[in-house]
Amino acid sequence: MKILVVGELNVDLILRNYSDFPTLGREVLVEEASMTLGSAAAICAAGLAKLGNAVTFLGKVGDDAWGRLCVDSLDRLGVDTSLVMRDPTVGTGITVAITSAKDRALVTCLGSIAALRASEIDEAVLGGFDHLHMASYFLQQGLRPGVKGLLGGARRRGLTTSLDPGCDPEDRWAADLTDALIEADVFLPNEVELAGVTGRCDVSEAVRALQNGHTLTIAKLGARGCAAMVDGEIVRVPGRRVETVDTTGAGDSFNAGFLHAWLSQRPLREAMLFANACGALSTRASGGTGSQATEQQALEFMAGEVCA
Ligand code: ADP
Repeated sequence: MKILVVGELNVDLILRNYSDFPTLGREVLVEEASMTLGSAAAICAAGLAKLGNAVTFLGKVGDDAWGRLCVDSLDRLGVDTSLVMRDPTVGTGITVAITSAKDRALVTCLGSIAALRASEIDEAVLGGFDHLHMASYFLQQGLRPGVKGLLGGARRRGLTTSLDPGCDPEDRWAADLTDALIEADVFLPNEVELAGVTGRCDVSEAVRALQNGHTLTIAKLGARGCAAMVDGEIVRVPGRRVETVDTTGAGDSFNAGFLHAWLSQRPLREAMLFANACGALSTRASGGTGSQATEQQALEFMAGEVCA
């Protein structure tokens, strides 16, 4: 499959295992610091490439060291970066993650994440692909008004489409997202995003509320697995137990797994099982791309042949 991922690019500065959580006016220590490729869209692109797909990334970075880290990492992970734009007028986005085994806080400077605009994307590039995936709807402030048009343009050219909303840092979850969904074949929110978008905490009610006669919603439910609505009935597929080190990017690796199986025409329940395996396996190492699965590894894990 030839897949185009359009989305944000940023680095993650991960500060792990703090002595005390920082408060104003104090200095605290952490045990470890690392700078890695961040971004939901990039982690999903890397997961799709690891599963054997031809993946191209379209996004924007600044002309700086962080931007080079993003592009070099994607190159190393087998993602084609020929459509990544370098804009010297913005700094590459960064997320600082202050984490412990219990919880984490994220601080993001959007920079180049907010700078990409639909007008900079020549729709003709869509023609060479089978599928378009987009992520982080709310963070991409420049692209947001053009997301529906881009998804629609892709569908008119015969591509299938998917959208992961990501979090809304303003916690407003405005209705333009549900409006754009009509052009998405697959919608991939996690539980918090599903509740935010629909205003409903009950997963079945929330998934039902998103039924628009077209879009298949797959709700990601952390260690509990995932759920979808089929013929008006909720189908739940439980998650797989795994020794979890870091859940960063689990949802993006899940997306990669689901899209890989769904695009290969596997039955829905099987695609959900495969996605759960990819999500679970990705949590075995720190960072989003450190332990993403190959197709073989995911299939063996599903068959219970690998003790992760
Ligand atoms: P996000 O990373 O977007 O917040 P989730 O936390 O729901 O999304 O995780 C996405 C998917 O990854 C889940 O649906 C599940 O399949 C898998 N997953 C996440 N956390 C775990 C875990 N602790 N154990 C096993 N599988 C997990």
